[in-house]
Amino acid sequence: MKITSEILASLPIHISHSGLEFDHVSIDSRSLQNGNSTLFFCLKGQNNDAHNFIESLIDKGVQHFVVEYIPEKVKEKAHFYTVENTTTALQNLAKAYKNQFQIETIAITGSNGKTIVKEWLNFLLSPDFSVVRSPKSFNSQVGVPLSIFGINENHTLGIFEAGISLRGEMQKLEQIIQPTIGIFTHLGNAHQEGFTTVEEKIKEKCELFKNCNITILEKNDWIERHIPTSTFTWSFEDPNADVFILSKDRNNQKTSLEIVYKKEKHKVTIPFIDDISLENTVTCICTLLYLSVDFKTITERVSKLYNIEIRLQAKKGINNCLLIDDSFSSDYQSLKIALDFLEQQKLHLKKTVIISDIFQSGLNVNELYNNVIKLLQQNNIQRIITIGETIGQYLKDVPHVISFTNTQSFLQQFNTQSFENETVLIKGARNFHFDEIVVLLEEKVHETVLEINLDALTSNYNFYKQKLKPTTKIMVMVKAFGYGNGGYEIAKQLAHLKVDYLGVAFADEGIELRKAGITTPIMVLNPEISSYNAMIAYDLEPEMYSISGLTSFIELAKEKNLNTYPIHLKIDTGMHRLGFEKHQIAELIQLLQHNNFVKVASVFSHLSASDNKDFKDFTLKQIGLFQEITDELSNELKIQPIRHILNTSGIFNYAEYQFEMVRLGIGIYGVGNSNEEQQSLQNVSTLKSIISQIRTVNTNDSIGYSRKFMVEKPMRIATIPIGYADGIRRAWGNEKGYVTINNQKATILGNVCMDMLMVDVTNIFCNERDEVIIFGENPHVTEIASVCSTIPYEILTSISQRVKRIFYKN
Ligand SMILES: *Cc1c(COP(=O)(O)O)cnc(C)c1O
Repeated sequence: MKITSEILASLPIHISHSGLEFDHVSIDSRSLQNGNSTLFFCLKGQNNDAHNFIESLIDKGVQHFVVEYIPEKVKEKAHFYTVENTTTALQNLAKAYKNQFQIETIAITGSNGKTIVKEWLNFLLSPDFSVVRSPKSFNSQVGVPLSIFGINENHTLGIFEAGISLRGEMQKLEQIIQPTIGIFTHLGNAHQEGFTTVEEKIKEKCELFKNCNITILEKNDWIERHIPTSTFTWSFEDPNADVFILSKDRNNQKTSLEIVYKKEKHKVTIPFIDDISLENTVTCICTLLYLSVDFKTITERVSKLYNIEIRLQAKKGINNCLLIDDSFSSDYQSLKIALDFLEQQKLHLKKTVIISDIFQSGLNVNELYNNVIKLLQQNNIQRIITIGETIGQYLKDVPHVISFTNTQSFLQQFNTQSFENETVLIKGARNFHFDEIVVLLEEKVHETVLEINLDALTSNYNFYKQKLKPTTKIMVMVKAFGYGNGGYEIAKQLAHLKVDYLGVAFADEGIELRKAGITTPIMVLNPEISSYNAMIAYDLEPEMYSISGLTSFIELAKEKNLNTYPIHLKIDTGMHRLGFEKHQIAELIQLLQHNNFVKVASVFSHLSASDNKDFKDFTLKQIGLFQEITDELSNELKIQPIRHILNTSGIFNYAEYQFEMVRLGIGIYGVGNSNEEQQSLQNVSTLKSIISQIRTVNTNDSIGYSRKFMVEKPMRIATIPIGYADGIRRAWGNEKGYVTINNQKATILGNVCMDMLMVDVTNIFCNERDEVIIFGENPHVTEIASVCSTIPYEILTSISQRVKRIFYKN
């Protein structure tokens, strides 16, 4: 990629005259690819303002910044190009960049399936075209421009996703992508928020197609009315569609489709059985037909379609390694992204990359591998393992490279014990079968996992943040292993979001976080006297709730000669759990007066019923008492501590009492205490398992312990390896609860066992090893909690530590 001065002329700034050129456009301050030939766009997000990172970027060698303002302390230190809106400038640059390439360009939009269709089309069309595509699911107002910069002069086909959440956005994406072929995948309910009606949303989406030669979609007269181009339609129901699927026959994990096209019947077999995959495959078939690929070729290629993993996954590896699994794609653009992702996993300093031959770069091999070498060196990769004839040749003189001709010889010859305490990126083209390497290096655990969506966590955080004044600080409670979700990984994401404080219950939890490298201030709610020393050693700030506890701490501080060590005073205003009561305040003041060993960093209290409006009077009384006591402390001690009393529901219901800080807990994990609140939150954790076995049980037989479920007619039963020892309550068994299998409800039959449970799949199309959702979107933890007469907090924090946690970001 080259950003020439001609392209720069598209920006309303005067860089173009200087004859400058750039070969990298970046918005990510953490990328190691930033350097002196980078043009860096300082975007302003809801929470992150990249202008804050300019100084550190200059240290890394970046010299050219597109900014909305020039921060005082970096003035004169680099070249700044001021624009009104950096996102718009980035988009305009991408538009100008795309203008140079008049290639066939496919744009895909729709509520679901965009990424799958894009990846499949890439696979299906690669034999005929040199394809460039959006990496991962880069489909936003920023993701699309960044994708566009991946095009070079050798590409003959572009495939880009476009996703929108607000009105007016699609028009911008259309101008950047400049598509010639439009694809409308599924129209579901996702991302409805920014639109008043479905019709409005469809109209907006159709903006993408306005200059296309054709739009490919499922036949639907109502939607077609809004499509501004000719259409190429498919349908499982309507014989008038261009491509009509006459029948589908599912058998042994495959489906045979009988397809009518131009009055002729064809048969294709695809390796999926679920409806969504079938629809996505048919969309791809239509695209190939439109591009004049013959049916014989289509049949052959679609039979080889595969499930794709859309996102980069960080997995727990053997010997305390962290694996980044990217074992299904190998192209230059996605290598760049994977290396950035690798850099963000700061768990280990040592980094290994296992990489196969690279295809579809659009560059000639020489140039390609020179760029790859440069990229690997920029990212400080300590060990590079190449697999494949070509890459081995080109990288053979690079230091720290170990080469293998194929995956099998790597698997046979390489000692896995040499992987230890490091992050390993596994990146290979699909036909290299790097999934076998992942299996080898992955820590073997149960098939039950708790998946944690860090993007959803961020979105929930932003939801509460926007309810507060910009100056109000936020403490996020990560006690009890991040409400069961994970300690370090959650804390790391929160540190990235720049939260002001983390809250843990016990010193040990805080120590774990410090050892893992978390530097955010941490408050400890239950500081035991025996842990005071360790807390000081690890820079943890204790909550002080009693005269005796405080006296001991001050003594220790004196002994250690500490100066103004931060402590937090807890006031009991009505919860009656921990804290100083009103009548103790005078004594407290006496203890703290003229005392420089400790410093009151904050004063706080906890509401007992912030989630229940019926207790509004009581809550206001608590707040009133809090205010009175904090005033007294401030006046007598001449201090101005941070004050905080609101928890999650407090922020939702009583935001006007935010004082200088709030303590956010359950909400960030995606659980609201009211329906209204829940509506605004995204689901963070999904507990998943698989079907171990399926059997048929006959009339008069019974299922599970104590013959609790009696079978009245023959049934198909699936056994799932998760039980009460994993945190699934027995109260959720015996037909009260259910799991979701292939989007359908499967009722739990009989008693939940210690490590297993059985469900009814008589009317559900499923197979052994299929995925099972225990909770997530559906059923939601709040539903389980209510059936089990408890609260979601208890369900979440009861998920056993033997359940593996997987964290992901898009
Ligand atoms: C757990 C806790 C919170 C957070 O409560 P949520 O209801 O999860 O928001 C806040 N403050 C204190 C003292 C807590 O113990």
